[in-house]
Amino acid sequence: MPAKENHNGLTVDVAVARPLWQPLSYMVGPELAKLIRPLTRLVVPVRGKNVLGFALSRPEERSTKGLKPIKDVLDDPRNGSAWPEGLLRFFQRASAYYQTPLGQVLAWALPAGLGGLGKASGSSPRAKEEVVISLRQGREEDLPRKNTQAAQLLEKIGQADSLALSELRSEFPRVSQLARQLEQRGWAVLSHRLVVKDLCGRELFPEPRPEKLTEEQANALDRLEPAVKAAEFKSFLIHGVTGSGKTELYLRAVEAALEKGRQALVLTPEIGLCLRLEGLFRARLGQGNVAVLHSGLTPAARRGQWMAISSGRVKVVVGARSAVFAPLSDPGVICVDEEQDEAYKQEDRMGYHARDLALLRGQEQKCPVVLGTATPAVVTRHRAQSGAMELISLKKRVKDVPLPAMQVVDMRKAGVLAGGFLSPVLYATLKKTVAKNGQVLLFLNRRGFAPALICQDCGKPLGCPHCSLSLTYHRQSNSLKCHTCGFQRSVPEKCPQCGAGIEAFKPIGLGTESVARKLAEMEPDLRLARLDTDTAGDHRKLSKMLKLILDHEVDVVIGTQMISKGHHFPDLKLVGVLMADQALSLPDFRAAERAYTLLSQVAGRAGREGGGGKVIVQTYDPEHHALVGALNHEPDWFYETEIAERKALNYPPFTRLVSLRLEGEKEERVAKAAGFLAGHLRKAQARLEPGAMVLGPAPAPVVKVQDRFRYLLLLKALSAGGAARIMRLALHNTGPLPFGVRLRVDVDPVNL
Ligand code: ADP
Ligand code: ZN
Repeated sequence: MPAKENHNGLTVDVAVARPLWQPLSYMVGPELAKLIRPLTRLVVPVRGKNVLGFALSRPEERSTKGLKPIKDVLDDPRNGSAWPEGLLRFFQRASAYYQTPLGQVLAWALPAGLGGLGKASGSSPRAKEEVVISLRQGREEDLPRKNTQAAQLLEKIGQADSLALSELRSEFPRVSQLARQLEQRGWAVLSHRLVVKDLCGRELFPEPRPEKLTEEQANALDRLEPAVKAAEFKSFLIHGVTGSGKTELYLRAVEAALEKGRQALVLTPEIGLCLRLEGLFRARLGQGNVAVLHSGLTPAARRGQWMAISSGRVKVVVGARSAVFAPLSDPGVICVDEEQDEAYKQEDRMGYHARDLALLRGQEQKCPVVLGTATPAVVTRHRAQSGAMELISLKKRVKDVPLPAMQVVDMRKAGVLAGGFLSPVLYATLKKTVAKNGQVLLFLNRRGFAPALICQDCGKPLGCPHCSLSLTYHRQSNSLKCHTCGFQRSVPEKCPQCGAGIEAFKPIGLGTESVARKLAEMEPDLRLARLDTDTAGDHRKLSKMLKLILDHEVDVVIGTQMISKGHHFPDLKLVGVLMADQALSLPDFRAAERAYTLLSQVAGRAGREGGGGKVIVQTYDPEHHALVGALNHEPDWFYETEIAERKALNYPPFTRLVSLRLEGEKEERVAKAAGFLAGHLRKAQARLEPGAMVLGPAPAPVVKVQDRFRYLLLLKALSAGGAARIMRLALHNTGPLPFGVRLRVDVDPVNL
């Protein structure tokens, strides 16, 4: 043995933001070492480049032989770090579950501005308080009558209850001075008020605290509150119809957490809903106690909010998907609103689901997790039903709003369709509604890109014999393909379901664009707007569109599911669902669930104000359980039917899916790599979990994207643990992928 040299010094293990599973070790000097805790952001050299990394522990005394020194420490615990150290285990579990290296998980979870190599600057949260002016009570009689600016201002204020000075500035350039004069003369009162605006820049008026909870709410709170007090993990599903007061329950649970000296996290799937919750929570808990995190904020604002949270200054976070990573050190409750929403699933980079991560986070940080929705995901409801989660049902609405009238049009008997898509009854109702100055929403499914062939006689799409999913129709080759298992066939002579001849087949796959074009030709006087990812893909475009609709600048909106939730359009009196089958015939086992959820939500859009709303659903398959369940308001029946089908076909929640996507520029290479990986997956599966299944490889539904070919494999395992073990063994045996081929693993995929 060689003589032992003294190479000891301080070292730290670092998870670097690279696709590496093993941490790298570095040397660190005594001064920098003092700043380092678990999850502290560092800059470290990797193959000659500076890379972001995260410490996995405090520095330890060890041999430093062969180690490079770290370059910099980006966090300073005295000013607040990007992550609280207690989150390490949560991230380690997320990394294992989603099969993504820890360093990448951490880097991707940071907001823009903190995920780079720059230091954090902790700007404070944006204040949104405004000065408002209102008339002083009892002075109405002796107001000045003369035609001065002051008198005009007073008159203007008199018409409204109160007005923000910022809104008056365009008309009264010197409004601040004027307002102060009016206050000094005793005519007006100035006060500070929290002003929250919606996506269209309209002021939201948060609901006041209700005087009394409803009986159902009170019973629910009797179960939630003790769980918050116990400071232990427990999960709840609040299954409550729209308007049953779920939001009030989140608020009360958050208050209970704050009372215990802890913090709270409230997730909501999209910005529109986020703003509403933000307004409510700020109004009830105090402006400075609430932080928000969503994509509508500028990077600087997000960074500011982030640092306000991690420093402990702000105790409640309201945010969209990525807020599940908010740097709260001690949440006392996590609420997930609209838990079924697919917007919670991140599609690129790490494909996490924020609701599932919320549950994981609750386990790690010892707090209850409260999921709420009117239409629970089938997997969530199954968890509740099987006792893994506590179920709270709210069956009554707080305020009695009449449900819209529902009408189903059986397209097999509808007769001649106007423009090829409007049944006579929908067409007539549309014109009547617009004539009476109502607005109409024509609803289409965005995901209709995978066209199916539907038999117009029996209403069923042509399906895959191996997967019980719809086959995708390829017009060019006049063939049908299963994009899950690769099964392929020519168009059959007869319908396998009912025997109807080939002439009964009709491709479905209608787009918002073609509908808008045709409707404009048929009814040139209608004011039309299209609302989909093309016309309203970003925050700014969306708010513009919403404002157009709210200002009643359009008569008919042709929209995708972007419009199905959250927004509130008072003049909307008719919702027409053009092709309910389009959702049902998707090559995805969640097709029915998606259709059910969408229809339930779309139906909730019509006639919210003043009642009198109507929903017309066009379908070739009026007996389908998704349609019947949604239109007859029978969630239990829908669930029972759906869960039986899932069980029969071995789909979640009875199995766990992992989708593997291989992609590259050379198709043969991708296909070959996919075949090779499939072989290893099958071997690993046969050895570890004989009951599991590997499907594919098959070309993806859209096989070429940006000149890269995509092939898919699907692993159906019996448990999450089983899936992880099979994946590990198979990937280990497969070894490195051929040059130019990349693999993307999606655990619990939402889009197959
Ligand atoms: P949900 O989230 O279940 O759809 P909300 O929480 O939005 O329902 O509640 C619907 C409406 O009822 C809101 O306007 C809310 O302010 C009001 N509300 C909730 N709880 C009560 C209550 N206990 N008393 C009176 N109004 C209430
Ligand atoms: Zn198939």
